[in-house]
Amino acid sequence: MERELLNKMFEFHGHKCWASALGLRAGLFALEKSGVERAKAKELYVILETGYYHGAGCFGDGVQFATGCTLGKGNLIRKPRGKLAFTLIDIKQWKQIRLCFNPKIREKIANTVFMRKRGAGIPPHEIPEEEAMEAVILVLDSPIEDVLLIGEVKESHFEPPVEVMGLEVCEICGEPVAKAYVRIIGGGENIKKVCIDCSGYKEGFEK
Ligand SMILES: [Zn+2]
Ligand SMILES: [Zn+2]
Repeated sequence: MERELLNKMFEFHGHKCWASALGLRAGLFALEKSGVERAKAKELYVILETGYYHGAGCFGDGVQFATGCTLGKGNLIRKPRGKLAFTLIDIKQWKQIRLCFNPKIREKIANTVFMRKRGAGIPPHEIPEEEAMEAVILVLDSPIEDVLLIGEVKESHFEPPVEVMGLEVCEICGEPVAKAYVRIIGGGENIKKVCIDCSGYKEGFEK
């Protein structure tokens, strides 16, 4: 892999770590196996299986950077399973491939100084670069089949989400909100189109 690409990804991600490097390698490999280029719009989708609030979630930034399937474009779909895994879907050819972190390399990574320090609670950006790079080199230079469980490229039955265009202005706070997120409150003469927060609705996880 080109060093320049790796460094650009680390710059985007914020620090040097093996999990984001693994995501980058896996993303590039998935593109190559599928015979497609990085997504410019929504010709590709990624279903990302990393979850919330767990270690090595950095994997997802490498995958986004490599594939161009990003949070902003809306072609990154989260299916939180706590796995360093994703499916790349090519909706032009209706083909998909799934890749997952291979447990074969896991112990070697766990024994690096970087991971022992991470385990002791040291944040990644406070760990010396050479120590972080030892684990990065391990995931980049080991044979790909030792690093990833590689699925077959197969037919895809994925249904791309439908996009609702347009914004409306919330009648309470005055902020523009995507139409799909507008809520109706009140009744009779007093119907208002408002944003979710002004509607009084609370998600289950919000306090
Ligand atoms: Zn990271
Ligand atoms: Zn509002």
